[in-house]
Amino acid sequence: MQSLIDSFGRRIDYLRVSVTDRCNYRCFYCIPAEGADIAARSEFLSYEELTRLIRLFSELGVGKIRFTGGEPLVRRDMVELARQVSMLPGIRDVSLSTNAHLLEQHARELHEAGVARVNISLDTLDPATFRDITRGGDLAAVQRGIEAALAVGMRPVKLNMVVMKGVNDQEIEAMLDYAIARGADLRFIETMPIGAAGRDGAASHYYPADKVLERVRRHCGEELVAVKGVRGAGPARYYQIGSGPARVGVISALSRHFCEGCNRVRLTARGELVLCLGQEDTAPLGAGLRQGWSDAELTRAILDAIAAKPERHEFGEREEVVRFRHMSTIGG
Ligand code: SAM
Repeated sequence: MQSLIDSFGRRIDYLRVSVTDRCNYRCFYCIPAEGADIAARSEFLSYEELTRLIRLFSELGVGKIRFTGGEPLVRRDMVELARQVSMLPGIRDVSLSTNAHLLEQHARELHEAGVARVNISLDTLDPATFRDITRGGDLAAVQRGIEAALAVGMRPVKLNMVVMKGVNDQEIEAMLDYAIARGADLRFIETMPIGAAGRDGAASHYYPADKVLERVRRHCGEELVAVKGVRGAGPARYYQIGSGPARVGVISALSRHFCEGCNRVRLTARGELVLCLGQEDTAPLGAGLRQGWSDAELTRAILDAIAAKPERHEFGEREEVVRFRHMSTIGG
């Protein structure tokens, strides 16, 4: 089987697929108050088109797919896409990033369709703060979604908290207790200068991962053990809590130590291949597909794009480059 090796010797085996840029939440650091630029629905690739592209990636050694968005569960029949993709030979890991607002009703069928694990955004355990951050979200629905994912056996369930000074940083310890009690992983994420946070200065809420870690250490004490080689760890540093199963990760997206191990690219709902979260480089696979490119032509375009994958992101250096890009469009 061919594999995707970029010009820095990195093997790309992980594709994040944004199935829609629409979201039922409007997190203030992600989507600007006036709303994000969204594509016309007809521009979104159909499930057949997405599955075709994913199949071509899988034939190039990509075995790991994560569905994201926008909010993937607002797109109709997401379960069917998951089923089709899980059945592709070569695909060994199918996961989902969601805000969990709609997860309660879909968790079981998603799991049966091959979604083994799930990442859920959860920035606060306070209903009013939750409403403020998400501009109207329903914490109780999300918590029911989390319980449903655990109940149907998705593992791991990873909770992602964007830690923001003056917004939710006082909840680090409460979030630890919540995650540990459920055997869920918890990842603390630094605010990135991207989407609304890039534009509106929400990055002023920046709370450094090292400070988070200090507080985690204080709260969990002896129980905290560094773990190496966590599958799919990406930019996270992981720690085990006691004998598990809960783990804690801290993600400092601004540090560049993880670029050298980068194994991923992203596909937007329009079929643009995004080569780096912190660079502008893209390849128009969806447009090619709709112009009638053959599998061989699409494969060539994928290989050429991977050969041009940038060495590293430039957050903090050339912020203007990505400031207006939205996580909701490119699939965070
Ligand atoms: N709707 C899904 C969800 O809520 O997980 C998937 C898409 S969402 C854009 C993916 C992740 O990006 C969320 O965990 C969100 O908190 C994170 N995110 C968005 N903007 C961010 C920023 N400026 N800095 C850090 N994380 C951000």
